[in-house]
Amino acid sequence: MDPKTKAVTGSSTRTKKRHGQLFIFITTVLKILFISLLLVSFAAAGILGGLIFGYIKTTTPIKPEQLDLKNITSFVYDSKGNEIMQLKGEQNRILVEHDSIPDNLRNALISIEDKRFYDHKGIDLIRISSAVFNFLKPGGNMHGGSTITQQLVKNITGDTRRTLKRKVQEQYMAIQLEKHLSKEKILDLYMNLIYMGGNYYGVETASQVYFGKSVKDLTLAQCASLAGITNLPGIYAPVSEKNIKKNIERQKNILFEMKRSGSITEQQYQQALKEDLKFVASDKNKIKTVKTQSFFVDQVIIDVKKDLIASGMSPQLADKTIYSNGIKIYSTMDPDIQKGMDEVFTNDKYFPIIKRNLQHPQAAMVIMDPSTGQVKALYGGYGQKTGDLILNRATQIQRQPGSTFKPIADYAPAIDMKLITAASVFDDAPSYLNPASKSPYPTNYTKGYYSGLTTIHTALYQSINVVAAKTWLKLGSSLSLKYLARNGINLNKENDGNLSIAMGGLHEGVNTLKMAAAYVPFVNDGVYRDPITYTKVLDKDGNVLLEKKSKSTMVYDNEGTAFIMTRMMQDVCRIGTASTKGLGLIQKGKIATAGKTGTTSDNRDKWFVGYTPYYVGATWYGYDKNSKLSPEEYNQALIIWHEVMEKAHANLKPKEFKQSTAVIKRTVCRYSGKTPSDLCARDPRGNAVIEEYFLPGTEPKSGDTCDVHVTKQVCKDSKDGFGRNNLFGPGCPQSSLIESVFVQRKVPYNKARAADPYPSDWKYEAPVSYCTIHGGPPSNSTTNEPVNTTDTNSGENNTTDNTNTTNNTDTTTDTINAIEQNQPQQ
Ligand SMILES: [Zn+2]
Ligand SMILES: [Zn+2]
Repeated sequence: MDPKTKAVTGSSTRTKKRHGQLFIFITTVLKILFISLLLVSFAAAGILGGLIFGYIKTTTPIKPEQLDLKNITSFVYDSKGNEIMQLKGEQNRILVEHDSIPDNLRNALISIEDKRFYDHKGIDLIRISSAVFNFLKPGGNMHGGSTITQQLVKNITGDTRRTLKRKVQEQYMAIQLEKHLSKEKILDLYMNLIYMGGNYYGVETASQVYFGKSVKDLTLAQCASLAGITNLPGIYAPVSEKNIKKNIERQKNILFEMKRSGSITEQQYQQALKEDLKFVASDKNKIKTVKTQSFFVDQVIIDVKKDLIASGMSPQLADKTIYSNGIKIYSTMDPDIQKGMDEVFTNDKYFPIIKRNLQHPQAAMVIMDPSTGQVKALYGGYGQKTGDLILNRATQIQRQPGSTFKPIADYAPAIDMKLITAASVFDDAPSYLNPASKSPYPTNYTKGYYSGLTTIHTALYQSINVVAAKTWLKLGSSLSLKYLARNGINLNKENDGNLSIAMGGLHEGVNTLKMAAAYVPFVNDGVYRDPITYTKVLDKDGNVLLEKKSKSTMVYDNEGTAFIMTRMMQDVCRIGTASTKGLGLIQKGKIATAGKTGTTSDNRDKWFVGYTPYYVGATWYGYDKNSKLSPEEYNQALIIWHEVMEKAHANLKPKEFKQSTAVIKRTVCRYSGKTPSDLCARDPRGNAVIEEYFLPGTEPKSGDTCDVHVTKQVCKDSKDGFGRNNLFGPGCPQSSLIESVFVQRKVPYNKARAADPYPSDWKYEAPVSYCTIHGGPPSNSTTNEPVNTTDTNSGENNTTDNTNTTNNTDTTTDTINAIEQNQPQQ
């Protein structure tokens, strides 16, 4: 033997020996592993058994009525019971009866999706074990294993989560379904519900979309092609060159399987392979609808669908129920109010084309009945509606609400928390409430103008930002957000915990429907009502499928808060920002109105949310591109609100807002918010004594008398730079002495920057300099000049704030904290 060979042989023998030992070793390890696994499995089986039993027990059974396949027209009614819309299945789902489905299509689907469909009882044990086997193979996954029955269950429940629980429940429901339905019925349901790409469900829809003809006219080759789509419509739906290639590959595979199972002959197979598949061009794939639905009906369908899904239906089944099950939907739409709104929104007069913007302005409006929460009318854009389920600007876009947010985010919560009253006085003066900015913040809508000592009441109807911001700082972000959430507006602190929210500067914005609903508590005793668009849905036999009641939430803890807010907002319409040309009034004021205007920075969005004792209406006006409005459009939201609301109230009797018994009326001084002294009536601007309503306990206490009005002895011959008479000095003749009434801020206003203006009431502030004509000040006087330091104090006249002292412990950020500490504490 060649030594070389021997050596090689020897080495090979050793290798074999080593391999043999290794083999025994691995086998032993594997055996031990297997036995351990088995033991663990037995233990796990007990737990798993319990788990599975629990899953099965909690399975929601499929109701037989969910499976009715007839194509029956559904109806939508208005609030008076008139039929306003017929809903037919022709939308994205055309149902097909058993007899119209070709056997070739049935066989094609079975051959590719579930070969043993006719033999199993809902689940296919052979498939499950092969799926498990595949899973155990290296790189294997748990794909496949679902029978047609299971896929049907998935389509009915809409539950596609990949969890053990879902899988167990699906298998259980599949077995149950097989007990109650024939194989043919299961297959029919499956074919009518499967997703076929795009927005299309069911084989008839898909056949019309992809082949331009009914499923009953499909050739064998086309049946096989159609059957191939459902596995992965994103890949196999013939909508692109790439997909068509994939679809044809799969179609050939299906034809082969059909031949192998004997459902077609060799001759049929060969003939089908030769057929040239022609697909309809994808731009023609749209199915026409019969009549355009109104924005209201769109919203009703969206809401009903959402609630059907919440009741346990899949989205597909909910659609089928709405369009094909002959249901009756009772909407809340008031036909007369909606008609009036339609007339305004389709009238070009209210939507002027401004050349600069080169596009039509848009608007949206919602009218609600505050006592029921029912939406009475709704419109989602300019002009005649062009299609179904198109963009609804009343519910589907969010815009910055601007000052319409002040009542709900600032004033009402702060009044309700007894942090302010309608008579609380704040100094509307240049303020630096945003520490990051070197410019005054916030500025008022009338830039550079500040009105000085102002009550909350006046600040609200004149829409003064500085006072809104100071109120919000007193309130703090948590309380503001808490009240907003009670009003159906859920925002989070991270995005909307900063001061800009006080002026309606939100992270994302809010829609018109939510704004209407958020004002409901003001005219509904402080109670919010969830807006609803329908009251009930009946099935074709008259059984109640859905019943809808508006949920109510107590927003304001004090009964009088809503009343006080309404009284202040009545002045918005009478003498405030909505008083232009009487636009804030209905029936020239015979029916009481209250509301709030809103404008976003740069005039991109305009709002008016206003209400009467009958209805709440919210209107938004702006551009889809959020372009700047032109000055001639600034009143457009209010004009549209007015026109629609006049029509809505045309046949209603004059009515006032309900008087609250939970408030106290007091006379107060408008510059101190306190009980008037005899000086208040002598204010140089006129009598400063006003009447105001208070929550019990927040009214000025006896002895809490105005300390803002003061008298000063001045010289009539000498004036300062602000036009005020200078103080009477020792050199002034007695004949020049007059005694005048002035205001004297408890917290002096000091300009932070030379460029800052004085508030407009500065000329009524008590003078500090002495007569310069008859000689200087008394010898003990220290100054003859107005104080002009650079103290950045925001100037809030806190001592005039006569509310209960609830210290604001809720501060949002460190910066705001710093501001608050800067403010004088009571
Ligand atoms: Zn006074
Ligand atoms: Zn003098």
